[in-house]
Amino acid sequence: MSLLTVNNISKSFGGNKAVNGVSFDLPAGQLLALLGPNGAGKSTCFNILNGQYRPETGSITFDGHDISGMKPRDIWRLGVGRTFQISATFSSMTVLENVQMALLSRERKLFGLWKPAPSYFREEAMDLLEQVGMAAQAERACGVLAYGDVKRVELAVALSNKPRLLLMDEPTAGMAPKERNALMALTKKLVLEKNMSVLFTEHSMDVVFAFADRMIVLARGQLIAEGDGETIRNHPKVQEVYFGS
Ligand code: ADP
Ligand code: MG
Repeated sequence: MSLLTVNNISKSFGGNKAVNGVSFDLPAGQLLALLGPNGAGKSTCFNILNGQYRPETGSITFDGHDISGMKPRDIWRLGVGRTFQISATFSSMTVLENVQMALLSRERKLFGLWKPAPSYFREEAMDLLEQVGMAAQAERACGVLAYGDVKRVELAVALSNKPRLLLMDEPTAGMAPKERNALMALTKKLVLEKNMSVLFTEHSMDVVFAFADRMIVLARGQLIAEGDGETIRNHPKVQEVYFGS
């Protein structure tokens, strides 16, 4: 059974149909790539799914709940997590404190941006850092970390709410190929371990073909293809969009 069912969603900006009648399914435990050239509507799709935009048509069902038009906070509480393209960590706080903040927020115990007491959710936070390979750097300030390591902390922050579905818009943007592969390998491992689903966008086709279970392709707001790597590679509409042939 599918965890997420997207049925005919649309969103316009003025006369521009950024997302135009898009439908797809995402089963539990799958890493699904959302592909498409710049301006195809990928980020707009993400923003509809996480509740930032209300879809103008259609519906979205997550885990049996109709989430179309729900507030971002409520969608997050149901188990839809996200990572941000622009870093969302507090650079003056340590790696551990960042995850503790996320756990306090989950428990609705975050009442300001002062540093959490060292003991707050320490064990759970360290466990999350272990999962993303950042436990050894727990006491370092986020501001001094390598870029790929910041992304790992963000992943730990996103996992703090135990998401069933994680939305990752360009998680590897700005990374070197080696860092990219490491982050996607980690994501894939987490998908398998937690039976979590991930929807992500990614520019590097090598990364997509190496890690995604399945892919869907958008062009000018419409879904033009879906399937496994082989299907997508050979799809005439995809070749037209990407290679102009
Ligand atoms: P992608 O993420 O695939 O590059 P986007 O979803 O960001 O594409 O954009 C899809 C289309 O919608 C583009 O034509 C873009 O210019 C337009 N668009 C996106 N966000 C806005 C916005 N907030 N206001 C106006 N137009 C927007
Ligand atoms: Mg985008």
